[in-house]
Amino acid sequence: MSTQDKSSSRSRSKAIGKSAIKNTPPKDTKKVSLFRRLDIRFPWLKLVLVVFIGIVAILDLLDLTISKTNNHVILATVAPMQKHVKVTERVLVGKKLVALTFDDGPSSATTPILLQTLEEKDVPATFFMLGKMAKNNPDLVREIESKGHEVASHTMYHQNLIRIPLASAKADINEAASVIEDILGHKPSLTRPPYGNNNAEIRKAMDTPVIIWSVDTLDWKNKNTEAIVSTTMSEIHDGAIILMHDIHPTSVEAVPTLIDTARKAGYEFTTISELAEIKEVDLEDGELYYNILP
Ligand SMILES: [Zn+2]
Repeated sequence: MSTQDKSSSRSRSKAIGKSAIKNTPPKDTKKVSLFRRLDIRFPWLKLVLVVFIGIVAILDLLDLTISKTNNHVILATVAPMQKHVKVTERVLVGKKLVALTFDDGPSSATTPILLQTLEEKDVPATFFMLGKMAKNNPDLVREIESKGHEVASHTMYHQNLIRIPLASAKADINEAASVIEDILGHKPSLTRPPYGNNNAEIRKAMDTPVIIWSVDTLDWKNKNTEAIVSTTMSEIHDGAIILMHDIHPTSVEAVPTLIDTARKAGYEFTTISELAEIKEVDLEDGELYYNILP
């Protein structure tokens, strides 16, 4: 046999193989013909099947609505009717940025009201909480963080750290950090010493950026919503850290007007860490910050 013959016989057998495959009846011919036969004998069967599948699909959907995607469905149908639903993201570009900070809480009496206001206004804040208050309100601490606010430490018992032995000050700072870590699974991102009082050793012991404030609303003193707003607006500036206390009802009451007034004046709100990120300021552990300016 010549080389040509070999190759031609190979291609022939290939061709035979292909046609053999082509000619093999499809495996599901029997099934198809069975359906055809059924279709001819029971022409209404198709309609019954379609209706049955439709009912099953609807039941399945209802079941999903009730069980798995309960939240999702409720949000999709009810949310647009609720007033506090976020319809827009905060626009930070071209705005003067400030951080609202709340000390001495969280309090089960006043902090939930504040959280609702902040949600309605789409304002994230920074909470310098006391370890002893956090320990008594762990669910509130988790809620604060879950709503996009920053959780920071204001020490355990609000002692004047520069007036007590350094060892006691360190113990107080560390206890607060542990309480917050136990609740949230991570340590507080920032620390604010009570009364703003600190020294080099205390800053070092805090082991986080040390945050004071540049706008003191004096809310704890005046306990007057109008005074809180006017004091803030007279001192507010780009990069400001605004000091408030979420344990006083008057402070919480002042927040909606304060937010609206500041926004009218071209300000927008961020957490301290977000503010530092936007201003490209690297917050360093043990360093002192009164405001966040590049
Ligand atoms: Zn305080």
